[in-house]
Amino acid sequence: MSDQTFLSWPFFEDRHRALAETVERWSAANLPANHGDVDAACRDLVARLGRDGLLAPTAPDPSVPSPLDVRSLCLIRETLARYDGLADFAFAMQGLGAGPISLFGNAEQRSWLKLTRSGEAIAAFALSERKSGSDVANIAMTATRDGDDYILDGEKTWISNGGIAEIYVVFARTGEGPGAKGLSAFVVPADLSGFAVAERIDVIAPHPLARLKFERARVPASAMIGAPGEGFKIAMATLDIFRATVGAAALGFARRALDETITRVRTREMFGGPLADLQMVQAAIAEMALDVDAAALLVYRAAWTKDNGAARVTREAAMAKLYATDRAQDVIDKAVQLHGGDGVRRGHIVERLYREIRALRIYEGASEVQKVVIARQTLSGA
Ligand SMILES: Cc1cc2nc3c(=O)[nH]c(=O)nc-3n(C[C@H](O)[C@H](O)[C@H](O)COP(=O)(O)OP(=O)(O)OC[C@H]3O[C@@H](n4cnc5c(N)ncnc54)[C@H](O)[C@@H]3O)c2cc1C
Repeated sequence: MSDQTFLSWPFFEDRHRALAETVERWSAANLPANHGDVDAACRDLVARLGRDGLLAPTAPDPSVPSPLDVRSLCLIRETLARYDGLADFAFAMQGLGAGPISLFGNAEQRSWLKLTRSGEAIAAFALSERKSGSDVANIAMTATRDGDDYILDGEKTWISNGGIAEIYVVFARTGEGPGAKGLSAFVVPADLSGFAVAERIDVIAPHPLARLKFERARVPASAMIGAPGEGFKIAMATLDIFRATVGAAALGFARRALDETITRVRTREMFGGPLADLQMVQAAIAEMALDVDAAALLVYRAAWTKDNGAARVTREAAMAKLYATDRAQDVIDKAVQLHGGDGVRRGHIVERLYREIRALRIYEGASEVQKVVIARQTLSGA
């Protein structure tokens, strides 16, 4: 069993400790999933997580609007990631995909939440484009008003759950102002005429990922989330919440790497004793343990701050994501090193973690972008 002492930190309430126990039990019984067919695995994971009530924290009950509890999201992501990266992915995307609706959707749009939280509909968040990854304000896809409708034209790429989602939240240029001031968000069902999955994208830790194409795809004006021109604000507010949870996933990967390494160095005999007796190995273990705890403090500080009423947690969330993902990369690299040849053997748990962690330093704001955010806020004294 992984170190659970952090659950006694004052960031948590008893309901969080109970949730952590439930997710731990569920994960031990259900994970890892069979990754042979990632589309099928994700559909199955979403259905099972939904059926067993674990998706509830990803979207508030539409009939009882309430804020997203970031500590619950983080605890679930950390635990699922410790057992299976794909399960964490399936959970996280239900939250990120539905996030703009949870935070800003009207009553009609919120009816989707019933389906995403029960696992009956898979959600996706479609922000990135070929020329606007880190530079979000540079979005080229357009949404042009035509009577009571908007017509969507353009492409999105790197869209997680692309190809298997039932519902996409899509950001497009409506032109109320220049750059970030001229974007709006839309709820787009997957069966919309004029919408197609143009390409499936294969990555080092496979999960459903696609490039999407919109050609004169007509949506009613009522599909817009919030007001015209509020798209950038909606995207950033959603990322504010989910960025800390990316840190939580990284923390789960790092904790698993540390657990595996502890077992390995205790049992691997070398130079007349266990590997754990060597001081250089102990130094590596100490650094890994320190990184894990420091990352946990930043992740749960950001989550607690948001849950306790802060309007925005941009700086705290950026710190949590930057630190937890960067350090997890290092922790996992040490785990691979201390496993020797087994560490790079395809299918070994630390080899899998080595592939799983990499994208987390790129998506939802690359590490450099998080540094820009932290520096800007620190220099402004905000
Ligand atoms: C596995 C995966 C899943 C994804 N899922 C989604 C999704 O579901 N929805 C979605 O909308 N997008 C998604 N993305 C897209 C992701 O958000 C973008 O890849 C990310 O924003 C980076 O954009 P880019 O790939 O265009 O890289 P670029 O913007 O070209 O950046 C390349 C690199 O330049 C550096 N850089 C960028 N900005 C700065 C800066 N200001 N200062 C210094 N250096 C900088 C960083 O090292 C960065 O990695 C996903 C990406 C991946 C890899």
